Formats: sequence, C-alpha cells, structure tokens
Amino acid sequence: MTQFRVGIARGDDPKENVRAAVDLAGGWSERATRARRVFVKVNLTVDRESGSGAVTHVLVVEAIVELLKESGVRYIAVGDGTGAPWPTSRNWKAAGYSHLPGKYGVKLVDLNRARTRRVEVPDHKNFAALEIPEVVLDADMLVVATPPKTHDDGLFTLCGKSLFGIPPNRFYGAPRAIFHKLGQQATVYDINQAVSIDFAFIDGTVAMELGFGDGRPVPLRLIVAGSNSLAVDTVAMHLIGQDPRRCAYLRYLAKARGGPAGLDEIEVLGATVEEAGRKLLSPWDDPALAKADSADLKVVGKRVIFEEAPPKEKLELRPQVDRSACIGDGLCGHYCPEVFELRDDDKAYVIVERPDPSLLPKIELAARVCPTKVIAVYS
Ligand code: SF4
Repeated sequence: MTQFRVGIARGDDPKENVRAAVDLAGGWSERATRARRVFVKVNLTVDRESGSGAVTHVLVVEAIVELLKESGVRYIAVGDGTGAPWPTSRNWKAAGYSHLPGKYGVKLVDLNRARTRRVEVPDHKNFAALEIPEVVLDADMLVVATPPKTHDDGLFTLCGKSLFGIPPNRFYGAPRAIFHKLGQQATVYDINQAVSIDFAFIDGTVAMELGFGDGRPVPLRLIVAGSNSLAVDTVAMHLIGQDPRRCAYLRYLAKARGGPAGLDEIEVLGATVEEAGRKLLSPWDDPALAKADSADLKVVGKRVIFEEAPPKEKLELRPQVDRSACIGDGLCGHYCPEVFELRDDDKAYVIVERPDPSLLPKIELAARVCPTKVIAVYS
C-alpha cells in the first residue's frame, strides 16, 4: 500500500463533500488532532463571489472550520493576501465570508498586512529567505483550500500555487511582481519549501478554466483531500485532464521530497479519477507545446512564449509609503535613514527613488517593523 492517500468525494452539498473527503483520506493527520492553533489558507485572490470558481467556496470553509472545532481546535484563523491593489477584506466580503467570525469565532486575516518573520528556504531556487506572516508560522497546522484553475499563461492553481498569497505583497510588489519576474514556478517551489502544508483541499465545487479571476467557471461538484498536498495536487491535475508533468512546481517538489511523482504512487479512495474528472482547457492543449517546458512559460498578447527570467541584479527597488495610513512614529527612518525620512507633517517620505540593492535588507527591515504595514519594497 502506498503512503500517499487521497480522498475524492462528489455530490451537490459542498459541506458533505468536505467531510466525506476527509474521511476517505483517513481523517486528519495525527498532527492535526493535536493542533490548537490552525491557519486555513483560502484562495481570495480577487473580489468574486463563492461559486465563481475564482475563490474558495464559503461553504467549504465553513465545513473545514466545523471539522476543526469538532477536533478541539481553539484558535482558527482564515485568510489570504490578495494580489489586487486593495485590502483582502474586500475579497472576503465579496466571497460571503463576513459572517465567519461571528458564527464560529474565527479570525479573518489579511496576510498582506500581517506581521512577518524571515524564513530560510532550503534548497531554494529564487529566494534564499522569504518574509512569512507569523500567523502562519505560529500555527500548529496549516490547511490549504483552493479551487483548481488553469491559467492562460500555462500555470495551474492548485494547493501548492495557492501559497503564493502567503508572503505579503508589500515586500514583493503588488501583485507580487518580483515573483512573476523571477519565474512563478520556481517561486511557488520556494514558498512550499519555506512553509509546509499539513492538510490540503482542492475545492472542486466550481473550478476555473483559463483564468485566475475572470476565467470560465466549471462546476465539478467534488472535493479532493489529503495530508500530502503534492499527492492531492497530482490527483487534481488528472481530474482536470492535465498531465502533472506540465506543472513545473509539482515536478520540483516531487524531486525535492522523493515523490509522489505520479498517480501510480497514490492511493485514491472514493470516486475514481475517470468518473469524477472533467477536462479544463489550458495552453498545454496546443500541440505546438507538446515538447515545451513549463518552467518559464509566458503569454504575450495571445502568443504563448518562453522567456528567460531576468537576473536578480537587474531588478529595481522602488520603495513606497502609503502616507494615508502612516502614523508618523518614524520607525522606518530609524532603521533605514538612507531611504526613509519623517517630515514636519509627521509622515514618512522616500528620499531615494531607486536605492542601491545593498540597502535591501534595511528596507525590508523597515517594512517589517512598520506598525501599519504601509511600506512597499517594490512597486
Ligand atoms: S514605520 Fe510606517 S507608520 Fe511609521 S513612519 Fe514609517 S511608514 Fe509611517
């Protein structure tokens, strides 16, 4: 018997599907039943309603929270950091999450505004270290739940990709511009090396085809669950009719972790992939891409091309301060006087538009200590 077990539950009730999928996957892992603080990373990348395929369905979140509370978890935080230039709260209102704190006592968290610590990335590809919110690092258990999406740039949203929303965009540019410039697949791998998922859900209530926010909604009416996120994501790729080898970050992670690299290494319980699957189109369905590698796939206009990521030394730092929320305590100027200055109006100003890259650690430190989290490192 394989060590990787994944459950697929189908039906019209998303909450029942969550419960059934967890049971099929063998229940919460041992770590989960001991957890007292849990962070549930949902997909709230855009301001869309539940059922649009763009965000994690609110009923799926409710079912996960109910299961965690039944397991005795006392502190549950639910959140994401949007890639959009507005607070993540706008997205959770659109998705119908606003009642969750009152109904369940959970905390809704905008990861873009959360306090962070710097985390080393073992065997990194792009980032030797990443800023990760403390609410994620201090959780005993990290649960991820995302709808699957194919993107028109050839990327796939799965649980691994969903971690893109964890490092705050104030450190990496909105919408995490540096991640895109350096190559999304390698950065997804780095984030998954920095934090590990303890339980993964693919929310196939409604999936999204060819878009991360405005693609075509495709109801799959299923939940995939398991304690190995790589196994869950691999099964999800088969369910949407895509070859997991097309997903570079899955390949990188399978190599780093010793598998699973394919469906033959995974025990799938519940519905079979054949009966539950439904094809989602992606650029990989173009025969011209049959031998291409997904690592640096990009789209220019309607053409799919491959470009080399620019070397890091060519990236430009452009720190900015959102002065509307600056409280004027001067911490940024204290920790990085070369770049930030508090003026007579009790607001911080950037005094060097393009600082020398050697100042990056000090600028990041200023962004970390800023109490209102209004400093963007790249813009
Ligand atoms: S640390 Fe933040 S809040 Fe304080 S002065 Fe600087 S920008 Fe303003």
